[in-house]
Amino acid sequence: MADFDAIVIGSGMSGGWAAKELCEWGLKVLVLERGQDIDPAKDYSDMTLLWERPHLDQIPEDEIRDKYTIQYGTASYAMSDSSKFLWVDERDQPYETPKDRPFNWVRGYHVGGKSLLWSRQTYRWCPQDFENNKLDGHGVDWPIRYEDLAPWYDHVEEFAGISGSLEGIAQLPDGKFLRPFELTAGEQHFRDKVEKAFPTRKVIPGRCAHLRETREVHTSLGRSQCQVRNHCHHGCTFGAYFSSVSATLPAARRTGNMTLISNAVAQSLDYDPASGRVTGVNVVDAITRAGGRHTAKMVFLCAGTLPSAMILLNSRSEKFPTGLANSSDQVGRNVMDHVTGASARGVLPGLLDRYYYGRRPDGIYIPRYANFTERDKPYLRGFGFQGGVGRRGWTADRPGVGKDFKEANRSPGPWIASIGAFGECLPNPDNRIRLHETRKDAWALPVAVINCAWGPNEIAIAQAAAQDARDMLRAAGATDIKMFDIPGPPGNAIHEMGTARMGRDPGTSVLNGWNQAHDVKNLFVTDGACMASTACQNPSLTYMAITARAASHAANLLREGQV
Ligand SMILES: Cc1cc2nc3c(=O)[nH]c(=O)nc-3n(C[C@H](O)[C@H](O)[C@H](O)COP(=O)(O)OP(=O)(O)OC[C@H]3O[C@@H](n4cnc5c(N)ncnc54)[C@H](O)[C@@H]3O)c2cc1C
Repeated sequence: MADFDAIVIGSGMSGGWAAKELCEWGLKVLVLERGQDIDPAKDYSDMTLLWERPHLDQIPEDEIRDKYTIQYGTASYAMSDSSKFLWVDERDQPYETPKDRPFNWVRGYHVGGKSLLWSRQTYRWCPQDFENNKLDGHGVDWPIRYEDLAPWYDHVEEFAGISGSLEGIAQLPDGKFLRPFELTAGEQHFRDKVEKAFPTRKVIPGRCAHLRETREVHTSLGRSQCQVRNHCHHGCTFGAYFSSVSATLPAARRTGNMTLISNAVAQSLDYDPASGRVTGVNVVDAITRAGGRHTAKMVFLCAGTLPSAMILLNSRSEKFPTGLANSSDQVGRNVMDHVTGASARGVLPGLLDRYYYGRRPDGIYIPRYANFTERDKPYLRGFGFQGGVGRRGWTADRPGVGKDFKEANRSPGPWIASIGAFGECLPNPDNRIRLHETRKDAWALPVAVINCAWGPNEIAIAQAAAQDARDMLRAAGATDIKMFDIPGPPGNAIHEMGTARMGRDPGTSVLNGWNQAHDVKNLFVTDGACMASTACQNPSLTYMAITARAASHAANLLREGQV
């Protein structure tokens, strides 16, 4: 007799959704989370101001060097002394890469996962994004199309609360939006100039998971409107930005159907060859190192793209000697990320009588145009830009002391425009994560070995995107333009995907069109591991929609006795 109807491994972006949906379908759900529990009232630092925190909230340099080198190099904008506990200590969580193939792995191991660290940009994929693999032959064909996911995008957008503008852009479908954040005067100027010079391109307000206004679905969970303080990387006591902690886990909890165990590191899944099913999850306590086992009728693996692959690879049996659900040999392969590093910035002259007030956790977005509204590019797929135009002011690093320094910092500086690309990455089976044969971490899990590098298409995308960024700044009239075209290492976008891809053919993919393992019918993987391609949009909204869809299907299967 199983302890629960379902076990969800991981309580981050996708695990939160799995827990909420399965609980709301009436299932008894156990959530296993490897990290500590989070109490917003105690753990968030958004209610103090920067200058009230010691050392202006800077992390001491030697601590960065010891514990956070890779993560700080990747996402310093999101890290501070008061929030550093949300990022893993790299000494405790080692992984290996070949020397010439770095991979920047950013991790947040606690209840809520990286949904407490993210920058909340949320974009739908478009129909073509689900067809490109089939059209150009890279990767395997997605077993689903946009139409399969569209109602689930509606579902998750309404619950999460996404602010955005209705634009009618084919390559970036509109959703169920709350009102958008306004563009600054500099951004309106930039938009007008760029859209005039490039009629095939659009500049729109970023779409982000913030409550610009509230509905009953939000307030009933204690969430309130965004205060536009831009303290999001310290947590949000108002619950105004979407996270597992502010939204999905409270929704799951109020059903009375959720049990959440924190500090429970899932190590492996047990497989019963007689029934062809997963029968249990083996865990180790993160603090005491004591072992344990939990059972359920089905398992949702939502530990994140790389950890989920590690758990599968660590679950070996006679039937699956290279890892659970790995008869295709695709588990751990096709690691992808968005290619970043292509950007430009410059000074927009004029508009010195214009200003804006308050802060804003958002900016502008330039949806993909390459190989969409602009054809015949010498590379496949495309990229989108995120950025903003704001006045340099008191937050700028101006050297000096005393009266002159204070006055200089009170006067607004010029308008600075900056845009950076997120480019699509092609699936490549040689980009992979595997388990080290001998080296283990403190929890007795083999450490990861990640071998991943950009191919010629990603390099071409980065170079083209940088030049386009420069050209758009020029068209907007910017001066002092600086262009950057060297891609950051894979992992830099923190949009890792692949490793257990969906597909139509069990011989070349791990999951079917419902995120159910081809090999094991009561196993579902719904985090970024399931992605068969990356498109160029930030991926989390798609994980949410895919997870909600899979949970609904799994709940039905369970009710019908089919898993
Ligand atoms: C600084 C930053 C900015 C970002 N900005 C954006 C953005 O603007 N838009 C966007 O779409 N995405 C963004 N992302 C990425 C986004 O956070 C991820 O796509 C998303 O959180 C992934 O969801 P997930 O459920 O796969 O993983 P996670 O949210 O990381 O959750 C995985 C959970 O599983 C737990 N876990 C791991 N291993 C185990 C185990 N063995 N046993 C038990 N539990 C385990 C982890 O502790 C974690 O809680 C950003 C990320 C960062 C860090």
